[in-house]
Amino acid sequence: MTSAGRFAPSPSGELHVGNLRTAVLAWLFAKSSGRKFLLRVEDLDRIRSGAEAEQLRDLQAVGVSWDDAVVRQTERGALYDAAIERLTAEGRTYECFCTRREIQEAPSAPHAPQGAYPGTCRKLSKAEREIRHATRPASIRLLSEVSEWSVEDQLHGQYVGVVDDFVLRRNDGVTAYNLAVVVDDAAQGIDQVVRGDDLLRSTPRQAYLAQLLGLSVPKYAHVPLVVNHDGVRLAKRDGAVTLGDLAAVGIPPGKVRDLILESIRLPAGTLEEALVHFRPQELPGEPWVWKTPRA
Ligand code: GLU
Repeated sequence: MTSAGRFAPSPSGELHVGNLRTAVLAWLFAKSSGRKFLLRVEDLDRIRSGAEAEQLRDLQAVGVSWDDAVVRQTERGALYDAAIERLTAEGRTYECFCTRREIQEAPSAPHAPQGAYPGTCRKLSKAEREIRHATRPASIRLLSEVSEWSVEDQLHGQYVGVVDDFVLRRNDGVTAYNLAVVVDDAAQGIDQVVRGDDLLRSTPRQAYLAQLLGLSVPKYAHVPLVVNHDGVRLAKRDGAVTLGDLAAVGIPPGKVRDLILESIRLPAGTLEEALVHFRPQELPGEPWVWKTPRA
């Protein structure tokens, strides 16, 4: 199978310069290592009608192109079901009836890391499960045999993080992000995952799951986020941050692309031109502080 990198946006709204910069970086990492670059729309949840088309248009406007057809998670339910069925057949899943509040209020298991699911539903008897079924639908959790897992990240080095009994399918029937991402990356031949470093904490869970499913673990590079002048992760409320907003104040997409390249210490121009100069190890380690430029 070919090796590939990817960008995997959730179509919840317009991309902002932070998202666009991550996409540019993912493209540069993939192309500079001779990989294909794929685009996957993570539309299991948080879908806003029309957002996908806007996102694809904006990616192209800053020069991000992709190989092969765009893949959408809503079209891949059978793959996710097969993975959950396999884990279930191996005795690696269980039903969970906890509400968010019950999880927060449950005493945590001894030595359990902070934020880990306390395991309340792990040992329910059949009779107890039946009683709970009558009250609410169940989610499916992974019965994890480890409490942490180590991953290797190209920018962060070795990273050890929590692995708990995380959700594979939510109680509304929607596949959970952690399961979908692992199944999709493997099925698409993605062996390089470049994404924002807010997702580093989810990575040990994903790598552990890949290993349980007999899938190879991709190479990871978690890149610094873009922040506002208060050092807080950039959001739509931070003023002109989408291509639409910026065009309205006289800053065209080509200028935004050049600012993104400058933040990666690359010369202005096309991404293909920048590629020759791209050195992953020279990527600034600190977040990029976004200031809306003057037109
Ligand atoms: N869809 C996720 C997001 O937009 C990214 C998932 C990933 O790159 O693994 O935050």
